[in-house]
Amino acid sequence: MNILLYIKRDISLNLRTQELLNIASLCKKKTKGKLYIAIFENSSFLKDELIYWEIDKIFYLEEKKKNMEEYLNLFQILLEKEKIDCIMMGNTLHERELAPYLSANFEWNLVPNIISFEIQEHKILWNRFLYGTRAIEESETKKQNIVLTFSGNIYKKDERRKTKNPEEAIVKSNFSFLLPYTIQSIEEKKLQKNPLETAKIVIGVGKGIKGKENFSMIEELANLLRAAIGVTRSVVDNGWRPEYEKVGQTGKIIKPELYLGFGISGAMQHMVGVQQARHIIMVNNNPNAESFRYSDFGIVADLFDVIPQLIQYLKEYKINDKKI
Ligand SMILES: Cc1cc2nc3c(=O)[nH]c(=O)nc-3n(C[C@H](O)[C@H](O)[C@H](O)COP(=O)(O)OP(=O)(O)OC[C@H]3O[C@@H](n4cnc5c(N)ncnc54)[C@H](O)[C@@H]3O)c2cc1C
Repeated sequence: MNILLYIKRDISLNLRTQELLNIASLCKKKTKGKLYIAIFENSSFLKDELIYWEIDKIFYLEEKKKNMEEYLNLFQILLEKEKIDCIMMGNTLHERELAPYLSANFEWNLVPNIISFEIQEHKILWNRFLYGTRAIEESETKKQNIVLTFSGNIYKKDERRKTKNPEEAIVKSNFSFLLPYTIQSIEEKKLQKNPLETAKIVIGVGKGIKGKENFSMIEELANLLRAAIGVTRSVVDNGWRPEYEKVGQTGKIIKPELYLGFGISGAMQHMVGVQQARHIIMVNNNPNAESFRYSDFGIVADLFDVIPQLIQYLKEYKINDKKI
């Protein structure tokens, strides 16, 4: 099976991208196929790290893609250049939009959000979450004409083994389609210092925080714990935090060692994104809050009392040179 792994623009090969490279390398090894990488031209410096995976060819995609039609055009060119059986990618918002777009246009099968898989001679067996994380679908697909997207934290083995330098090629689009709309501006997302998907500790924040201005204490706490910040939809809808921090059914599914939630009611749509955390601690001033049902440890208290005390404690703990 010849695989094309799409790596969306990045400033370094983060753990998530490394996991995708490991998955694609494993599939290449098991199917004795080829592994192609599609990466943006301005990330070409990543080549020095990419060569440790058994890659046959790296395609550098022309920059400044603004819409799905332009992405489709680049992938069409790639498919004309090489015989590709399978397109793989991650599961970010952008990839969740791109994967079905490619699958529909190429009339290929789409398997989104895979959480485990097994390569067999003529097929791939796979599992994926349905209804948030409430059910698991088990099924299979043939090894041709497929678009696969992978959930995070599903494959831990390191498949790096440097062999030879991959071939390289630049792919320029020949897109000439007149768009039925105009794009006035594009805002690049700020990269998170500590991405939610890989953070060991996540501080969850709900509407109980009352306003944007109160996030300074959350940021201080997150710095002390080296934690990432995740929020509920209410917080995003109020414009207090960016969309990419949203956790839950319509946001990110996370798997930290510790989820420390403040002022979160515990709606099912939020908790499906959190319930794979190893430990959950919730702070809520309502003793009947639904969030306590999901937590290993619950604190009935006002978050505005708890957080300053916790910050104070952690500062003293750090002054005494203890490690968290
Ligand atoms: C189709 C659909 C998809 C959705 N997807 C998502 C999703 O992906 N993610 C998501 O998060 N939500 C999602 N939602 C929304 C979800 O149903 C809830 O409305 C939302 O999660 C509630 O957010 P919250 O807990 O911050 O707010 P609230 O429900 O308003 O809860 C605030 C909590 O803070 C507590 N509180 C208030 N003051 C304090 C204080 N001083 N100290 C301590 N505690 C305090 C209150 O007791 C309360 O429990 C979705 C809804 C729908 C219909």
